Amino acid sequence: MAEAATRLVAYRKSPQSIGLLLADADAYVVGLNFVFGLAIPELEVASVFLKRLRVWTDRRNYVVRVVKEVLHELGHVLGLKHCRNRECVMSFSNSVFDVDRKLGMFCRSCAHTLGKSGVELPKEYVI
Ligand SMILES: [Zn+2]
Ligand SMILES: [Zn+2]
Repeated sequence: MAEAATRLVAYRKSPQSIGLLLADADAYVVGLNFVFGLAIPELEVASVFLKRLRVWTDRRNYVVRVVKEVLHELGHVLGLKHCRNRECVMSFSNSVFDVDRKLGMFCRSCAHTLGKSGVELPKEYVI
């Protein structure tokens, strides 16, 4: 992951951009036997790992899951932590069922936090 992060930083087009890697792979971090994604806010890069998002679903919902996890990791890059609101896209997902349960939207609290750092979300992305 460290090498991928370094490459992502190198490929970023501008310092204002965020590096995002979609990897057809499975990944884990110490303490968790797998992760759907990983963000490194200090480097403004994130990855979403697709392998486990593809299980027990059809193609349409697989794409929805990927979008949710991309929003989740971008939220981390932009400074958000995990959210207790189980519908919020920033809630932690321990399984694809958790991913399916949450919405592809930010709760008002997370949206407010993003707003304070200058990221105004379109209202269709706020619960
Ligand atoms: Zn997370
Ligand atoms: Zn939230």
